[in-house]
Amino acid sequence: MEIDFLLIGQGLAGTALAYRLKQAGKKIKIIDNPKANNSSRIAAGLFNPVTGRKMVKTWNADLLFPMIIPFYQELERITGRKFLTERPIYRPFLTIEEQNEWMGHSADPGFETYLEKIHQESQSEHLKDPFGGVMLRNSGWLNINNLLDAMSAYFKEELILEQFDEDLLSRTDELWKYGGIEAKAIIYCNGLGSMRSKFFNYLPFAPVKGEILEVKQEFTPDYVVNRGVFRVHLKDNIHRVGSTYTKHDLEVGPTNEAKTELLEKLIDLVRLPVGEIISHKTGIRPATRDRKPFLGKHPFEDGVYIFNGFGAKGVSLIPYFSAQMVDHLLKNKAIDFEVDIARYFNYI
Ligand SMILES: Cc1cc2nc3c(=O)[nH]c(=O)nc-3n(C[C@H](O)[C@H](O)[C@H](O)COP(=O)(O)OP(=O)(O)OC[C@H]3O[C@@H](n4cnc5c(N)ncnc54)[C@H](O)[C@@H]3O)c2cc1C
Repeated sequence: MEIDFLLIGQGLAGTALAYRLKQAGKKIKIIDNPKANNSSRIAAGLFNPVTGRKMVKTWNADLLFPMIIPFYQELERITGRKFLTERPIYRPFLTIEEQNEWMGHSADPGFETYLEKIHQESQSEHLKDPFGGVMLRNSGWLNINNLLDAMSAYFKEELILEQFDEDLLSRTDELWKYGGIEAKAIIYCNGLGSMRSKFFNYLPFAPVKGEILEVKQEFTPDYVVNRGVFRVHLKDNIHRVGSTYTKHDLEVGPTNEAKTELLEKLIDLVRLPVGEIISHKTGIRPATRDRKPFLGKHPFEDGVYIFNGFGAKGVSLIPYFSAQMVDHLLKNKAIDFEVDIARYFNYI
């Protein structure tokens, strides 16, 4: 069977890219082993325009954010399933200086799209926010598990559920051959699986483990609280609380250290006792050393591409960069140098 693109991996990256290629009328197949490393199914799915300890506008926010909600709404429409929750994110200030700094931002047109309101007073007796905080908009979270399940059904003709074994890949004339498939091009969207690919093992991936809890706690505001940890109300007093970041113990599952760290940070944020711990999960983010994604074509193998390295921010990055990748694949448009793997060609 001759196709245009064979995609490896149906995490969030492979799903978005496959969707756009299919919409463009291309013949595709996707090979996915859902049991392999799968950051997408662990992720909290937050998209947050102001991130980090210093609370700065996230990298390329003005390019990325206009595409997030429309893209996931489009996937909701075509699957008839719901997985996007638009929610303000409340970030308490740690000091009065921080409050003053943000009062300054309120007049800054660069922040207008993301600022719902700056609060100079505490928003709830249950919160430890004596200096108030900033309420962000254009934010929320994605139930990535629901999205992936819905999109697996959407790709029922294209999806092959099995482990991809690169040793079985061969080149015949102009095509890549894998089992009964002949593809003009192959695209690695397999997260950290690409670290083991002979084509892409030179790229500086920097995997980051994350641990995440679901806990019971009262107080269910209609916003996400995020400082030190995020706290997302799912339903019935159940909150998702996360995440940790570590480059160590990648092979080890849930740890007591991470659980304690998350619970201590939660206690710093909310004045209520934490009830039952419903789940404790870990995943490994397909992050990169310079914290920028990996997009582009292998330097000398024809028809071998990568779409990967979305680290801790796949939900925000993937709608924009999947569009850019499709423009590159179909119209030969340039990829932004910051994310093009050409920046690492001297590593080969
Ligand atoms: C604890 C935690 C919290 C996070 N929270 C957020 C958040 O709030 N917001 C956010 O934007 N991001 C978050 N992330 C990051 C997010 O998960 C990633 O950015 C994104 O999901 C990466 O998607 P991906 O498709 O590139 O990789 P993956 O999700 O890893 O998908 C790769 C796919 O390829 C498959 N695969 C791999 N090798 C093979 C093979 N040989 N054969 C067949 N299939 C294969 C895997 O099974 C998987 O399905 C979080 C991650 C973690 C771990």
